[in-house]
Amino acid sequence: MPSTTIRTMRLPAGDDVPVLGQGTWGMGERSAHRIAEVAALRLGVDLGMTLIDTAEMYGDGGAEEVVGEAISGRRDAVFIVSKVLPSHASRRGVAAACEESLRRLRTDRIDLYLLHWRLGTPLAETVAGFEALKGAGKIRHWGVSNFDTADMIDLAGVADGRNAQTNQVLYNLTRRGIEYDLLPWCRDRAIPVMAYSPVEQGALADDERLAKVADRHGASRSQIALAWVLRQDGVIAIPKASRADHVRDNRAAHDIRLTPADLQELDRAFRPPTAKQPLEML
Ligand code: NAP
Repeated sequence: MPSTTIRTMRLPAGDDVPVLGQGTWGMGERSAHRIAEVAALRLGVDLGMTLIDTAEMYGDGGAEEVVGEAISGRRDAVFIVSKVLPSHASRRGVAAACEESLRRLRTDRIDLYLLHWRLGTPLAETVAGFEALKGAGKIRHWGVSNFDTADMIDLAGVADGRNAQTNQVLYNLTRRGIEYDLLPWCRDRAIPVMAYSPVEQGALADDERLAKVADRHGASRSQIALAWVLRQDGVIAIPKASRADHVRDNRAAHDIRLTPADLQELDRAFRPPTAKQPLEML
């Protein structure tokens, strides 16, 4: 077991969550992989990565079912994040979708329920639906995903819109656009940014530009990519790993401290933004 505990971050509502969690996109798609996926998530929870991110979209509900199995008997030890599709973002739609997610997750509450991305439904309506779910105890908090700065400003302008507890967005060494405006905007308001695809869906594990820093730390390239996302306050990373060795590596990445020289080297290889870039999404 690692000797350190995972750093936590406080949500605006007051809950402390680990800055390193686990993603589940791609899980629950093939029954042959199910045992390994459940085992990976359980191992991650054992190692302190108790925040689990999922969505009704992933595997058409299959990923939520995998999470439900993985957390069976340890519900209170985990913080579940799930997401509603924009096609279900009406007031009635979120209520119905949430019931289905709760059933698949085999739980009575979702800790943090996110709008997966913004589409046509007025934000005020989705927020009203989320607030009603909160009132009914079906969700504890709500937030958004794939919201650019202008979307966050719109959200802050609707009733109860400032109750959002996170914005989950694409962020890794090759996707640094949010550093220009969205990340500072969220940070100024103490809204955690949840970085998805922190190892660019595995691509950074093979990226030659990380080799030297990785060698210096006796770490893998993927671990450096993850340590880089975690280097700063206000960011939570949710790598997905269905292999036990990846889960262990990700947990260990939390303990890597990048030096100023490492960070400069990485800035040269992966340039920070110098102008506004529209938010990218996967
Ligand atoms: P990711 O976490 O960047 O990468 C996952 C891939 O990297 C998997 O193929 C995994 O392999 C591999 N990997 C993980 N740890 C590794 C390690 N230590 N060494 C080498 N390879 C490693 O990409 P992601 O799944 O797209 O993003 C993470 C999570 O964010 C998702 O699962 C999902 O929960 C969330 N997400 C949200 C949105 C959104 O729109 N809100 C979009 C994308 C993702 P194995 O699985 O084989 O172990």
